Parts: sequence; C-alpha cells; structure tokens
Amino acid sequence: MTGRTETLLTHAGRSPDEQWGFVNTPVFRGSTVLFKSLDALEAANQPYLYGRAGTPTTDGVEEIITALEGAHATQIVPSGLAAITVALLSVLSSGDEVLITDSAYEPVRQFADGYLARMGITAKFYDPRIGAGIVDLIGPKTRAIFAESPGSGTFELQNIPAIAGVAQARGVRLIVDNSWASPLFFKPLALGADIVIHAGTKLFVGHSDAFVGTISTNAECWPAVAATRKLLGFYTSPDEAFLTARGLRTLSVRMKAHEARALELASWLESHPLVKRVVHPALPSHPDHAIFKRDYTGSGTLFGFLLPDAPREALAAFLDGLTLFGLGYSWGGYESLIIPFTPGPRRTAVPWREEGRLLRIHVGLEDIEDLKADLEAGLARYAELVDRP
Ligand SMILES: *Cc1c(COP(=O)(O)O)cnc(C)c1O
Repeated sequence: MTGRTETLLTHAGRSPDEQWGFVNTPVFRGSTVLFKSLDALEAANQPYLYGRAGTPTTDGVEEIITALEGAHATQIVPSGLAAITVALLSVLSSGDEVLITDSAYEPVRQFADGYLARMGITAKFYDPRIGAGIVDLIGPKTRAIFAESPGSGTFELQNIPAIAGVAQARGVRLIVDNSWASPLFFKPLALGADIVIHAGTKLFVGHSDAFVGTISTNAECWPAVAATRKLLGFYTSPDEAFLTARGLRTLSVRMKAHEARALELASWLESHPLVKRVVHPALPSHPDHAIFKRDYTGSGTLFGFLLPDAPREALAAFLDGLTLFGLGYSWGGYESLIIPFTPGPRRTAVPWREEGRLLRIHVGLEDIEDLKADLEAGLARYAELVDRP
C-alpha cells in the first residue's frame, strides 16, 4: 500500500474484498489453523500456520506501521516495553556492550541492569545531547545504541542524524524509541536508524484501553528481529491489535488536535508567574529547539514544566484537587494526565541539574479553556502553600 500519510492511515492494513466486504479486518482469534491435506501440512506454505506467528488482524497493524515508518517490515509485540526488549535482544549477544541514553524510559534501564547484565551484556549510559560525540564511547564490543528522542520525562531531543552517521561508520545498530512524535512527525529510519520502536499503547491505541508495541526495521535488521520474537514466543492478542488498528485510523486528526492543545497550554504555562520553566521541544525556549525545527514536522502531546520547590502538601493540594487532569501513568489517550517526575536518582551519565519540582503533562482532547482553568486553580492552591516552612 502506498500513498500519503492520511491515505495510508485510512486504507492500509485492511482488505474488505477478502472479508465479505466488511470495512474492518475482524478479530481473528485462534491458535490452530487447519490444513486441507497432508501435502498442505508438509508444504507449510499457507499464509497462516499457527496463531502465535500472527493473524490477519495483527498483520494489518504491521502493514500500517511499516508504511508510516518507511520500514522494510514491522513486528507487533504485546507492549512497548516488549518492543524495546525484543529489539535489544535481536542485536545483542553475550559479551557485547550497548550504549543507552540517560533519558531512556526507566524500565529500559531496569532491563539493562536486571537482565542484560545477567546475560553478560554491559550497558553504558550516555548524555542524551552527546550527538556525534558518541563516537568516543564506541569500543570494540559496542554493538548497539539505544536512543529515545525526546526523553519521555525530561524531553532532551537527540541528534539522531549525527548519532546514526557514527553508528553506520562503526557498524553499530541504532535503535530509536519514537513514541513521542509518532511516525507522523518524525521518521528515524530515513535519518539512518536501523530499528524504530513504538509504545503503541500510547498514541496508536489512543484510548487508554490496550497494550501493544511495534518494532520496524530496515532490511538488514529484519531477520534478527523476526527470529528473536519467534524464539521468545511473544504473541499479540488480536483484540489488542484490532483496537490498535481502530486507533490508527484517526491518528492524524488526533495528533493535530493534541499538538495544538499541548502547544497552547505550554505557552500559557510559560507565561504563568508561578512556573519556572516549560520543557517542550517545540517552544523556542527549549535548548534543543534547533533540532526540533530541523528533524521534526510536528510535536507530541507530552511536555514538562517546573514549579518552585514546595512542601509535599502543596503538590498534593495541586494534584488532588484537579478535576480534568487525571493522576496516572501512561499517556496518548483522549483524556489529560499529569504526573510528578523525579529525574535525579534515575540519571547516571549526566546529573539532572534543574531546580524545582518537575511535572509531566499529557494534553488530551478536552476544551483548552477548561484545561487552563483546571490548572489555574491548581497552581493557585500550590502557590498558597509554597512558602510554608
Ligand atoms: C510507555 C512507554 C514505553 C512502554 O510502553 P508499554 O506499552 O507501557 O510497555 C516505552 N517508551 C516510552 C517512551 C513510553 O512512554
């Protein structure tokens, strides 16, 4: 399937002619696939042999993401974290070394420390703003670089073309977590990355009701990714795949609405007297804004802002009294969320030096004036308790 983005989102990954004309690919729930004869069983050349390998429902999602990312192929997996672990395991072997951005989604660090280390694989964490300087960290055992741009808690943008240039020259695989921008606004494979992963749970699903991950690769990395997923036995539920395909059909309109609201709310917070700093890569005030303008065609729903330090009661008064912003993990759904984020103890390569209390917002699809009013009242509650000893 070819076409421009919004046409792909609408038409890729479904074949009404093969399903009695019904528009959507149904939920194919099944383990066993029947063969007509011993000949057919032995030939094993049917499109489907066993449900664990995939179904038309999961294949449909893979086809959409492959088209959007400009990839050779895509593998769907049961969660965003599974996409990361399968991608890493597909390129790493015992004795190897992997470079991981210090801003990575926290469970990536836990996987490196708690599992890769046990397998004899060393992880070194690097400054997300290292750019081409990453060449100095590459040793004879370095096999892979893991990037996440922007970091989903601290929002540093990474210089992916520069890192990709070094990785290619040194024969190192570059894996990029592209969950924030989605393939609508950023295409790492076109900039030289080898593997792109998504927490499809977030923007693709878009309704906070399913878990899914995707791994898209260039031709070279595809056999290893497909084999690793198969050997590990990951199976993705067709129900989750159906909800992912349903979410993807409206991804473009949702992203534009999220983007506009996030930008307006971020600018509004930037002018609020209590707010120390807003951390949103699409704002000119962001230190990596030049990279944003060069490499991205739009921005995500997620950003951070810093408030002056205050006693815990101030934070509780702010968050507990919010009526529209939910307090919870994840993001990408239609509803707005807020969460305090504490980067300090998570960093090992570059300390987090910003003063103040960092909060992360996911801007949903509510009316923007209602969202501002909810935050305005919360900030007033915070301000009242800021100076209490
Ligand atoms: C949530 C998230 C993940 C993990 O996705 P799950 O589906 O929750 O496992 C990975 N990367 C980023 C940037 C995320 O925000």
